[in-house]
Amino acid sequence: MEGQVSTGYVLCRPPGHHAERSEGAGFCIFNNVAVAAAAAREVYGLKRICIVDYDVHHGNGTQHIFEGDEHILFISLHQDSNYPLHSGAVTEQGTGQGEGFTINCPLPPGSGTGAYKAAFERVVLPALEAFRPELVLVSSGFDASYADPLGAQILSSQDFRWMATQLKAIADRHCGGKVLAVHEGGYSEVYTPFCCLAVVEALAGTSSGIIDPFLHEVSNWGYQRLQNHQDAAISAAERPVALLKNKMQA
Ligand SMILES: [Zn+2]
Repeated sequence: MEGQVSTGYVLCRPPGHHAERSEGAGFCIFNNVAVAAAAAREVYGLKRICIVDYDVHHGNGTQHIFEGDEHILFISLHQDSNYPLHSGAVTEQGTGQGEGFTINCPLPPGSGTGAYKAAFERVVLPALEAFRPELVLVSSGFDASYADPLGAQILSSQDFRWMATQLKAIADRHCGGKVLAVHEGGYSEVYTPFCCLAVVEALAGTSSGIIDPFLHEVSNWGYQRLQNHQDAAISAAERPVALLKNKMQA
């Protein structure tokens, strides 16, 4: 915010997005990304901050903290009916003044490259273009990777690299490239490092030269393509984007 760097990655533990205002949950004590958003509001007076959460679990804490606030757009892609159960339905779209500024896209278990690309192209990116963020915050969890013991999605490091590249491009267009990614879940000790490195490389615009030795195998799995039931879930999440667009035009 003070112009020293445009992009940051917060490699923190514990994660934060399940923490509510007054209690921890789901390995989280303090909601790190929410603290960052609140500081950007209080200290720097920003009026349009987005938080994109691609952790495999729903960011219930972040949603609840800001669901009544039209200045903070929260978008979550998560595995339908994982932890916390009964949280993050597509019908949860914000409350009061914040109605339209919460977007949930629950994806069926087994979602991979095609589903996440479609969700980004039809839900996340159009919402961000309409919102024109002054700061892009990311809840960067890697438990949607194919190797994660707590999730059932099948993403590769290349998919995380692609999502980070899209978010950086949004930030370049709207807010001088200001992206702050905050580490969330990711429980495969073997594979999380390759996914996180891919995001850091994408945000920094550099390459470490380190090769993901598992990429070829996972990216060639058959069900990486968008499936009909995944397409239907994404179509349902296009409706809240239409609501957001109406709110932004009002
Ligand atoms: Zn998680």
